[in-house]
Amino acid sequence: MNVNELTPLFNFAEMQPRQRNSNGLTGQDIISVSQFDRDLLDYVFARAREMRELVQRVGGTDILKGHVLTALFYEPSTRTSASFIAAMERLGGSVIPITQGVQFSSVSKGETLADTIRTLEQYSDVIVLRHPEMGSAQVAADYAEIPVINAGDGPGEHPTQALLDLFTIREELGMLDGLKVAMVGDLRYGRTVHSLTKLLLQYNVSLRFVSPEILRMPLSYMNQVIDAGVDVRETHDVADVIKNADVLYVTRVQKERFSDLAQYEQVKDQYEITAELMTQAKAKMIVMHPLPRVGEIHYNVDKDPRAAYFRQVQNGMFIRMALLAAVLGKA
Ligand code: ASP
Repeated sequence: MNVNELTPLFNFAEMQPRQRNSNGLTGQDIISVSQFDRDLLDYVFARAREMRELVQRVGGTDILKGHVLTALFYEPSTRTSASFIAAMERLGGSVIPITQGVQFSSVSKGETLADTIRTLEQYSDVIVLRHPEMGSAQVAADYAEIPVINAGDGPGEHPTQALLDLFTIREELGMLDGLKVAMVGDLRYGRTVHSLTKLLLQYNVSLRFVSPEILRMPLSYMNQVIDAGVDVRETHDVADVIKNADVLYVTRVQKERFSDLAQYEQVKDQYEITAELMTQAKAKMIVMHPLPRVGEIHYNVDKDPRAAYFRQVQNGMFIRMALLAAVLGKA
């Protein structure tokens, strides 16, 4: 899809809500959270609530019957791939899953991303792509005539995860403005915290970043936070933030992004949220995690009603149902 042709559609600042005509997403790529303003977020969340109700009432529908999604995953995935597949199937569509076997596809013969994309779009109506390189989703979108949805481009962005994260906060706490959100762990390489931070800048929130020194939030994101005038503080210690946080968003140290594994070993076990630590947190707060967890949240937290991470997983399917329906013009 030619980016230049799309640019005006994403220039929301210059558009009247009416021009968007229920959503601006039909036929569009979803590459970055920068494409979403508050009106569009409200729209996606409203559709996600409808999807939730639909699934709870009758399990699904057939509005995407005859539509095919290709799930092309060059990196491991459990939730993102499974929830996109479940979302497509609950809407009556079907899926070409290339989620385990990229090593058996022509990619292993040296096919370029561009050619793989141009091939797969011959069979499908939408491509969901996860790739280890930052910027790869935009490259794929530049080549594809059909919508491309970024399911994680290396340490870059993970927009659909951020949408489901924001939706979870909204549904769990009933609001977004006024909240204190603490992000813990690998803020340098964690793409979910990058996308979520950008989305949260549209709301009146305070941000607390908790990380080891070498995994601090990248300067480019810090500058955006500061430019937005958001109250932000960085610390190395969860104890500094747990008492006041409304949201504790915990992340895994992204082992696969380290070129020096000795450095990974130094920081991998820095944080662990335990039931004991949770006694210091507010009664009405939530603990989130994009998962997988590899020791950052003790299993003894799971029964705490404030542990929202598995409810967060389910919200992923509702959000992805809403996005697929919108992108394929069936909103
Ligand atoms: N599942 C999330 C991602 O793909 C988080 C993680 O892998 O740690 O970015």
